[in-house]
Amino acid sequence: MRQAPRSIVVLTGAGISAESGVPVFRGPDGLWHGRRVEDVATHEALERDLWGVNAFFNELRRFVADIKPNPAHEALVKLEQAYGNAFLLVTQNVDPLHDRAGSKHPLHMHGELQSILCEQCGQRTPFFGDVLPQTACPACGRTECLRPDIVLFNEMPYAMDQIIDALMACDLFIAVGTSGFVYPAAGFVDIATHAGAHTIEINLAETERSPAFAEKRTGPAGQTLPALVAELIKAKEHDGDPRT
Ligand code: NAD
Ligand code: ZN
Repeated sequence: MRQAPRSIVVLTGAGISAESGVPVFRGPDGLWHGRRVEDVATHEALERDLWGVNAFFNELRRFVADIKPNPAHEALVKLEQAYGNAFLLVTQNVDPLHDRAGSKHPLHMHGELQSILCEQCGQRTPFFGDVLPQTACPACGRTECLRPDIVLFNEMPYAMDQIIDALMACDLFIAVGTSGFVYPAAGFVDIATHAGAHTIEINLAETERSPAFAEKRTGPAGQTLPALVAELIKAKEHDGDPRT
């Protein structure tokens, strides 16, 4: 990377957390293994069985309580520190590892495990325990109305306007550890390419969307991403401040 980009968008997926021991979505040990996605991650499931869905996400919330970020999450903290407002981190992950590593403003476009959403008043509240029928919404006090603050299939992801604006303005887009099956995130590379950005995919393997990327770096994110971030920080130091 000889010239420092003026504006960077990074999209992360389950693969960035794999080296922290969080199972990815598509694989034999996937978090959803043994549970059909339609039973736990759709709006229909929520309407049919709110407490079954809450029980499933309660279990995941307990699982992420003690996991630790890895060098890939840490590298993105350094990138944020170096590029400031010229950097946006968008994650599809519902785990708290970017936050735990120290990223200041990760956009959790698919929601967060450590948050609940009230179906009565619409308030999102940080939450670390189990959601039970008697758990009262911290905002409106009602019970039997809390659900996981997770964007389910067929629901609109969070912060789409902000993400699309950033993609249209960026000159570097990096996708890390995402299989490219889940839209709209899988289409971000197309928006960035249209905007004239350079695009880099980091993954262990070829993905559904690999052909759309200009550059590919193959290998575990815990190694490949810190190396790329070091190049980007070096380029910025060499160029001076690219934001001016
Ligand atoms: P995915 O599970 O569909 O794909 C994971 C990708 O990461 C694969 O392409 C795999 O080759 C790659 N990968 C695995 N280990 C890697 C490593 N060490 N380094 C680099 N790449 C690696 O994940 P997705 O595309 O993010 O889509 C899954 C959906 O499920 C998302 O919406 C996400 O919200 C959700 N999910 C989240 C988590 C989490 O929060 N950690 C975990 C599982 C699923
Ligand atoms: Zn409420």
